[in-house]
Amino acid sequence: MYEVRFHGRGGQGAVMAAQALASAAFQEGNFAVAFPYFGAERRGAPVMAFTRVDKDKIFSKTLIYEPDYIVVLDDKLTGIVDVSDGLKSDGIAIINSADKPEDIQLGKAVKCATVDATSVALETLGQPITNSAILGAFAKATGLVSIDSIVAGIMDIFGNRIGERLATKNANAARVAYERTTVGTCKGTMTYDAGGKWLPGYDELPLGLATRPMETPEGLVGPGSFAENKTGSWKTFKPIYDPDKCIMCRLCWFYCPDGCIKEVGEGDNMTLDFQLEYCKGCGICANECPKDAIKMVR
Ligand code: SF4
Ligand code: SF4
Repeated sequence: MYEVRFHGRGGQGAVMAAQALASAAFQEGNFAVAFPYFGAERRGAPVMAFTRVDKDKIFSKTLIYEPDYIVVLDDKLTGIVDVSDGLKSDGIAIINSADKPEDIQLGKAVKCATVDATSVALETLGQPITNSAILGAFAKATGLVSIDSIVAGIMDIFGNRIGERLATKNANAARVAYERTTVGTCKGTMTYDAGGKWLPGYDELPLGLATRPMETPEGLVGPGSFAENKTGSWKTFKPIYDPDKCIMCRLCWFYCPDGCIKEVGEGDNMTLDFQLEYCKGCGICANECPKDAIKMVR
């Protein structure tokens, strides 16, 4: 049996990738299961999905805690989630990154494959959805499934959801990524603070918690705690603001779902400040701007 844990963000398609891998393995005569694990369900939040493959029937129903392989759809996750947690010492990390494997920092030094799946996805699909491209890297790095079976798995799973034409584009993304994947060994010197898992007990919840903030050893919880939750690492594109075109209509400010656009200055000198450490790169501000004063760039 081998077990694969996918790390992605809501909206990146980690679940479909896990299912397509299971389909690919099934088409090579294996038994395979795929299933997701969601935390807070929202676009951009870290999610996991799992694939188990075996020559025999699979009865295990648990999450995968000691994977043989990890697949990371967004390399910025490696700084906020211990993606290599439990990864076997002879396992492989497959990571969407423009960096070489030797430049990747994880919690342990293991065999590592990298591919710039975001660029592949932008070239082949026109959007930064990396779930199909990363499967090409998985095939190249592990040799467990052929790229032809990966393509068949993508056509099976993606074709049912998004139609044959788009599935074919995704299959092409996997083939391109397969060719561009580099295999090496990553660094294993990253350390994680395990303390971020604090949850209040019933006796720690003061009356009215829902309406007032509370200091905890792990930081602020409750209203206002978003200030500590820097979601800027989620973005693929960032807004570039041109104050010369801006007429200060504030539509961008009004529609930004993260409240990360601030007014600075006064009177005729008033302009906008985009707080990129919170900006998720959704592009709504650029979409709403009537003066084309905001451009989204990679
Ligand atoms: S891209 Fe624009 S609207 Fe979206 S979070 Fe960033 S600043 Fe706000
Ligand atoms: S929507 Fe465009 S013009 Fe209006 S305030 Fe924002 S950047 Fe300026």
